[in-house]
Amino acid sequence: MANKEEIIAKLANEARDGWQGHVGERRAIDLIAFLNKTLANYSQVLGMSEDQIMVAIESKRDYSAINFYQNSKFPSLENVVVFESTEEVKGRYPSGKYRCPSCNGISTDPYVCNVAPASGKKQCDWKSYGLFGTLGKGLRVVVRSTFLEHPVVHEIFMPLEAEGMPVSDRQNIKAKPQ
Ligand SMILES: [Zn+2]
Repeated sequence: MANKEEIIAKLANEARDGWQGHVGERRAIDLIAFLNKTLANYSQVLGMSEDQIMVAIESKRDYSAINFYQNSKFPSLENVVVFESTEEVKGRYPSGKYRCPSCNGISTDPYVCNVAPASGKKQCDWKSYGLFGTLGKGLRVVVRSTFLEHPVVHEIFMPLEAEGMPVSDRQNIKAKPQ
């Protein structure tokens, strides 16, 4: 199995070969720095090895490394809530109510707004995974148990329990005792 050093070295060489002289060298240096920083952060937050994470994300890459390994796709996990499973998302926020970032209503679906429209109005139907995400008003989450198959940070509508809370407190909301 490849390790992170081998993969990073290969990607850096491709970056050097893709552009002449200083430009290629600069891109290679930036890429190496970005990957090392991202892998250290993800490894620490997710409790997985940097090798595992590098192999997982590289296996999903379907375009050039320079365009793929960007902050927008692999943001720092600093302000991201980590769940063990998707079931845990529901358990952690037991009200099952989420604020739609577009119509401001209360949706019972964390991904697609299902607020009943006022009479004569269209269904809002805002999607947390659409082009504009949650307009910066949602919760950025990662699911640890499936991260190696789906190495993505995604957004859900803000659970009512977590509104106005600092991220560190959102992490600690516990499911209601059964
Ligand atoms: Zn809505």
